[in-house]
Parts: sequence; structure tokens; C-alpha cells
Amino acid sequence: MNPSVVLFTSDLRLHDHPPLRAALETAPEVVPLFVRDPAVDRAGFAAPNRLAFLADCLTDLDAGLRARGGRLVVRQGDTVAEVRALVREVDADEVHMAAGYSAFARERERRLRHALESDGRRLYVHDGVITVLPAGEVTPAGGADHYALFTPYYRRWSGVPLRSPAPAPRTVRVPAGVRSEAVPSRADVPSVSEGLAVGGERAGRERLTAWMARQVDAYQDRHDDLAGDATSRLSPYLHFGALSAAEVVHKARAAGGAGAEAFVRQVCWRDFHHQVLNARPDIATEDYRPRHDRWRHGKGAEADLRAWQEGRTGYPLVDAAMRQLAYEGWMHNRGRLLAASFLTKTLYLDWRLGARHFLGLLVDGDVANNQLNWQWVAGTGTDTRPNRVLNPVLQARKYDPDGAYVRRWVPELADLEAPSIHEPWKLAPHERASGDYPEPVVGLADGLARFRRARELD
Ligand code: FAD
Repeated sequence: MNPSVVLFTSDLRLHDHPPLRAALETAPEVVPLFVRDPAVDRAGFAAPNRLAFLADCLTDLDAGLRARGGRLVVRQGDTVAEVRALVREVDADEVHMAAGYSAFARERERRLRHALESDGRRLYVHDGVITVLPAGEVTPAGGADHYALFTPYYRRWSGVPLRSPAPAPRTVRVPAGVRSEAVPSRADVPSVSEGLAVGGERAGRERLTAWMARQVDAYQDRHDDLAGDATSRLSPYLHFGALSAAEVVHKARAAGGAGAEAFVRQVCWRDFHHQVLNARPDIATEDYRPRHDRWRHGKGAEADLRAWQEGRTGYPLVDAAMRQLAYEGWMHNRGRLLAASFLTKTLYLDWRLGARHFLGLLVDGDVANNQLNWQWVAGTGTDTRPNRVLNPVLQARKYDPDGAYVRRWVPELADLEAPSIHEPWKLAPHERASGDYPEPVVGLADGLARFRRARELD
């Protein structure tokens, strides 16, 4: 039998990898392929932080394959043209890849299938590789193509038996003489956030093991503690598929307990958003549930957007979160909720502006989770309470009670204690540690009144 090609996309791992497994079962040799496609950059998916993390993942994947007698083949160009050329070079009969759910991924898959079939080759697309369950596997009674609400989805999702995660293959034989470009290196990516995590399957598995052993039990009680930083930070590894989402859930269920179940519920949100995106690819740019917003624009709106992006709104918790994002390329979920609520509701600026800024920096940034979380917060998505507004001072008292998170990220306020650290505008000028910290861009009552008027709630 001829060799097979395994096309890696958002599934950069060797453990629990159904496409690689299927290829190894039928072909004596496989070509593990990654294509650096400029269309990904043009579509706006390639931000420096994600490119750097991707480089780590590819380097690690190559090392893992080499340890098993193989190696990674990297090509640059249009994915369809590159796969087709490689298939002809090695005379492969089959190509295996993971199903993707964005409009971009589905169009790529359609074009690839067409090209390969017209050459007499076969494309096998394996579902449920980047998510726990295939998007669209569970649908509501009554014929709708996706769940619009999380809780009933979670109930059904929880009842579906999981496949057992497969181990990594012991050996991978790659045909000799296949040309490859150099595996990308993080060192070649400019403008990367200083505190960006290290990517790759090995780093992801280490983090997963440590998380399950030491922290998951406390997740339910501590996941909102901003300074405690007590969430898993597995999102970038899941985003690039350096970890299998199915394996993560498997391990958490095996660990058991309230913390593990609360953690699995969060991982289910990821599947939930993928099944919405699969059914409604337009939500990447369009409102899932339009509220007929006439978002602010003009000079004042632009200045407010800039203040928010730079972490200079004058609201310490919002600013701390935005500065964490810039420094780490990652932000705590509670920070994301607050920063997004502040932009869309208190400042009444279009969620797409916020989503674009996040996608420019987030190492875990993806269309399904970023756009749909933004829409959830803006009230144009799947939230059943679309007009809730988070108050940054109340949120600070609850989730950063002694101000440690603000002190970590906003050095201008580092000498202040709670409660004044959360409301520095109440201090007399001589009581403020540093004169550099800005006054609030808008009063909370004014912001709230503007939002309620715009949504015609009064
Ligand atoms: P944990 O709390 O440890 O959760 C475990 C895993 O569950 C995460 O790694 C993630 O894969 C998943 N998860 C948790 N919460 C959510 C959620 N609300 N939606 C979807 N999946 C979730 N997550 C992304 O992966 N990519 C994004 O681009 C993204 N953008 C967001 C934008 C906004 C405005 C908001 C409010 C949230 C966004 N999230 C996004 C969801 C969430 O904030 C991150 O997944 C989480 O903070 C990652 O940290 P963690 O791995 O420590 O999460």
C-alpha cells in the first residue's frame, strides 16, 4: 500500500489523534504535514502571540515524531495546492485530517476534497478531534440544527459516552527524501507578548498533569479569584490541539469531585460555541440575536476605545485585565467578562471592536470562543439576560477583595490598599500614590443610563 498523508491543522499532538491513528492502521508509511498557509494570515487569524505559540507546538510535534522515527514535513502556500502536490510526489492514496467548524475550515476542506477526488485520491475527515464531541452530534428535539442555550446542551452533552483517548503511536515511519521547509521557530516571530506561555504538547501535558494533581479540586470555589490565578490555563493548548479536549474531559471525570465537574462544564462551553459556529458560520461577524444597536462612533468613541485598549480607562480592575492581556497574551475569564462588559455596555462600543483587539493578542483566540463570548457579553449572543451590566467596582470588591490583582498589573496604584485601590477617584490628589493614573473615562451611572436608553429599556 502507498503512504498516507496526515494534514495537521488545529490538532498539533500525537496523543489521542484519530487521523494519525487511522492513517497508521492502513498505510506502512505516513507523511505528517503542516502547511503554513498565507490565507490564514489574510483571514486575520495569525497574530504574533499565536504564531509564536504555534511555532512552539510545531517544534514539539517534530521532536515527538523524531523520537518515534519520523519527522514533521512543513510546506508553505495554499493548503489545497500543497497537499495535492505532496500527494502526487509520494503517490499517497489517502489524506487524513481533523474536521474544523469555521467557515474558513469548511471551505478549505471542501476544496481539498474536490481536488483530491479529481486526482483519484481520498480525503478522510475525522470529526470530534478538536472538540470533545463532533459539533452537530447532539441536537435538540424538534429539528433545530444546534442548541441555542447552554444548559440543555450541557445536559445532553454530559450523557454522551466518550471515546477512550488513544495513546501516542510508538513508531511513525515517514518515506525518505520528502522535502520540508524549516520548522518555524518562536525566535523568528516579532512583537510577541513578554509573558507568553510556552507552547507544545509536552508543555500542555505537564500542565494538565499538574492541574489534575493539585488544583482541579479547588476549581469550583476559586475559579473567579482573579489574583489567585486558579484556573487551568489550558486554553491555548486546547486551541492548538496540543491537548485533546476529549482526553482532558476523560481525565477530569476520572478524577471526579465537584471541582472536576465544574471544570468539565467550562470545557463544554467550548464545544457549545463550536456547535453554534458550525450551524451559524456568519456569527463571526454578524449578531447571533440582533438587538438593533446603534453603537457609538466618532472621535469620542475612538478615544474611549483607545483608553480601553491601553488599560487606561480609570477603572482599575478593567485596566488590570487589559494590561494582563497585553503582557501575557492571555486574560483571566473574570477579567474578560468585565473588560467586555465595560466596552460594550458602559462605553457602548461595538463588540466587534473588542473582539478584534482580543484576537490580535489572545494566544487562545479563536472565532468560536472569542466571537461568541463577546456576543454573550454584549447581549447579542446566547445569554438569556442580554442587558446585564457588570459594575467594575462591585466586581472588584467581589473578585479582587484586597486589590492584589490590581496591584500586580497597575503599578501606578501599587501603594494603595482596598477599598480605595478600586475607587482611586475618591481620594484627594495628595492621597493618590501616583498622579499618572487617569480619571474615569465615564461615570458608571452615565454609562449605564446611555446603555439603557440605547436598548430602549427605560
Ligand atoms: P478554565 O477556567 O481552566 O477552563 C477550562 C477550559 O474550558 C478552558 O481552557 C477553555 O477551553 C474552556 N472554557 C472556559 N470558559 C469558557 C468559555 N466561556 N467559553 C468557551 N470555552 C471556555 N476562550 C478561548 O478559548 N478562546 C477565546 O478566544 C476566548 N475569548 C473570550 C472572550 C471573552 C470576551 C470572554 C468573556 C471569554 C473568552 N474565552 C475564550 C473564554 C474563557 O475566558 C477562556 O477559555 C478561559 O479564560 C481560559 O482560561 P483557562 O484555560 O484557565 O480556563
